[in-house]
Amino acid sequence: MDKLNLLKECEGAKTIGIGGHIRPDGDCVGSCLALWMYLTKACPEAVTEVFIEQPADVFGCIRGVDQIRSDFPEREPFDVFFALDCVPDRMGGAEQYFHAAKKTINIDHHISNANGSGMVNYVEPKASATSELIYELAEKEYLDADIAKAIYIGIIHDCGVFQYSNTSPRTLRIAADLISYGFDFTSIIDETFYERTYVQSQVMSEALLKSRLFMDGKCIVTSVDREMMEAYGVGPKDLDGIVNQLRIIRGVECAIFLYQTGEAEYKVSMRSNRYVDVSAVATCFGGGGHVRAAGCTMNGEVSEIIEQLSQQIRKQIIV
Ligand code: 5GP
Ligand code: MN
Repeated sequence: MDKLNLLKECEGAKTIGIGGHIRPDGDCVGSCLALWMYLTKACPEAVTEVFIEQPADVFGCIRGVDQIRSDFPEREPFDVFFALDCVPDRMGGAEQYFHAAKKTINIDHHISNANGSGMVNYVEPKASATSELIYELAEKEYLDADIAKAIYIGIIHDCGVFQYSNTSPRTLRIAADLISYGFDFTSIIDETFYERTYVQSQVMSEALLKSRLFMDGKCIVTSVDREMMEAYGVGPKDLDGIVNQLRIIRGVECAIFLYQTGEAEYKVSMRSNRYVDVSAVATCFGGGGHVRAAGCTMNGEVSEIIEQLSQQIRKQIIV
């Protein structure tokens, strides 16, 4: 794939917008803010803004978080609008800007978005994170410690601190270059990835306690309903990490985590270890993601949703 020339694509633009997906994760926040810092520096003649939902507090350490706009007001069409780490229909309030923009650029690493959804596309499913792609596309003379830190956070979140199979030699080489910029890379791993508040740990414990193994212990599922979220005073951002905790249980190939988002509506997160393609499963239900980590939103009661997911997963489970 030809490398995208970001600065050329933005040449002459007076307004540039950047959007990512709803419920932004580390890679979404990291890539959006890294691109924002980069373009603000490298294209000073343009006004560049980021439009995503408010990220979790742990991402407050990234420069530019206070510049994020989450109100999505009506605007004149942007000269250039970027969709990062997603397809436009997952952009929430920023989707309107994408469709109205004079030029749209989609940078992503989701296999479920392999063709890209912009006028200009740079989609590389082999990349560990969209942040990795921002590093590749950035002219190195403009990089600094703040940009490097944002990219590093994006990468560590999507590859589980270099643990998941999407980690490549290239990912590690990029990480090596990034830490040479001199930010405190040890503390951000703990503070943004591993640390949990007491109440987040309690919710996780209860979710693990009520988990159920099925398909001979090869699958595991648990859910958190609204009542439980209210009882602990937590929101969706506090539930990160539960599905990964399920995934590392010995013998499990596929882990499923559901949390309630509406009367009979649940957000589904899936992870697999060796061979189940959870992106294919999520795609059956209008979602997407990666081979080993994917999600979708489904309607119905928990038991019905699990049954529907199981029908698809069963086709792939090796007995
Ligand atoms: P998570 O389970 O952490 O929410 O998401 C895992 C991966 O699947 C992420 O890369 C995320 O962007 C993707 N993903 C999660 N939910 C959806 C969805 O509803 N639609 C699409 N297209 N991708 C999703
Ligand atoms: Mn990502």
